[in-house]
Amino acid sequence: MSSEPNLLEDVREQLCSCAMGLKLTPDIEAFLKIPMRELFVALPVHMDDGSIKLFRGFRVQYNEALGPTKGGVRFHPEETIESIRALAALMTWKCALHNLPLGGAKGGVICNPKELSHRELERISRAYIRGIYQIIGPERDIPAPDVYTNPQVMAWMMDEYSKLSGKNEFGAITGKPTSLGGSAGRYDATARGGWYAIKEAAEELGIGLKNSRVAVQGFGNVGYHAAYLAKKLFGCKVLALSDSKGGIYSEAGLDPEDVSGHKLSTGSVRDYPGAENITNENLLALDVDILIPAALENVINGNNAKKLQTRILAELANGPTAKSAENILFNKGIHVIPDILCNGGGVIVSYFEMVQNQYRLQWEEREVQILLEKKMKEAYHSVLDFSLKNKVNMRQAAYTLAVGRVVEAMQLRSWI
Ligand code: NAD
Repeated sequence: MSSEPNLLEDVREQLCSCAMGLKLTPDIEAFLKIPMRELFVALPVHMDDGSIKLFRGFRVQYNEALGPTKGGVRFHPEETIESIRALAALMTWKCALHNLPLGGAKGGVICNPKELSHRELERISRAYIRGIYQIIGPERDIPAPDVYTNPQVMAWMMDEYSKLSGKNEFGAITGKPTSLGGSAGRYDATARGGWYAIKEAAEELGIGLKNSRVAVQGFGNVGYHAAYLAKKLFGCKVLALSDSKGGIYSEAGLDPEDVSGHKLSTGSVRDYPGAENITNENLLALDVDILIPAALENVINGNNAKKLQTRILAELANGPTAKSAENILFNKGIHVIPDILCNGGGVIVSYFEMVQNQYRLQWEEREVQILLEKKMKEAYHSVLDFSLKNKVNMRQAAYTLAVGRVVEAMQLRSWI
């Protein structure tokens, strides 16, 4: 994650440019540039070999003007406080943009889940919750899954929080298994929400989705579902897919379910029978209608942006486009659906999960999908309208709308 300090700089620069549009005073701008609260925790954990190992973790609550903060927890060996701060800021703008009554947060533990046993992972998950217990809770801050954490980890975290509280607190964590208060439809919510936004963009640009050409970078939770839904919901042709080891391309189109089976048995999408191996850089430069980065930050930057040939860039990853690429994409006429708009489906359905937990309800999957589509469509059109009316690009429009809502809440609460 070497590029992460740049993500924080980019997020702050983006904030400065909306501060000008919103005519924010320097004091307000300074308030918005820093998190309201950060907690660093040391986690001594008993390992299977009898030793005790110390792990470091943190939780950043960026801004809670609109409600309790919400955001995922990453378990990653190269996690840094700078990346967590940037992602917590993005969560704040994302919740505001999608009109959720929530602020933004993010957390992380520096560890490598690939080198941990099931029980060690459980002990780290529980230790993290004990470490941050005092500042989280259904009315304070609600963690969720992110990179290398999953529904099982959320189940342990919810259980630990409940033990410390002395009662069941299902609403303290989202992204839980459905048998333990998780929401139907959470597993593909980020990708599905992204597709609801892409559908609106394609209509606007006159692109028929059937047989349209799609490339997806990243084949994890978000990337796999993005590719699967492209084919299943809209009959798109998925020309290319990739993971950390490289990519594959087939002019005839790939079957994401079959590629997933190949990845399970070989560890990568590479060498998929009948497809050509390509690099991640080649994938970004393909002649497609829709390009979906669903892996890492800053993959599209000043060095490669001019090579992109897509008509729509749908940012399902957080921060995939560096600021240095922004004008190049705009001048090429590429329609960008920015991350805080495009990947909001995950936090929207997490919010639905909180509502269901509060009322002891279990909504049907179709109900969740219908509500998700409505929220994604509303957000997409509010950003597009703002962008056209004020002659700014889609990212500036999204940031300005989101930051404006947070500032209004801060003013109404007399914080500024
Ligand atoms: P994941 O860990 O399940 O998958 C990540 C994928 O990226 C893996 O297939 C991995 O092989 C691939 N990858 C890693 N390095 C790569 C590289 N150099 N080039 C190409 N591919 C590479 O993570 P995820 O949950 O699918 O998240 C993917 C992105 O979406 C992240 O930016 C995450 O913050 C963002 N996001 C996720 C959610 C969610 O609900 N999971 C919500 C919003 C945003």
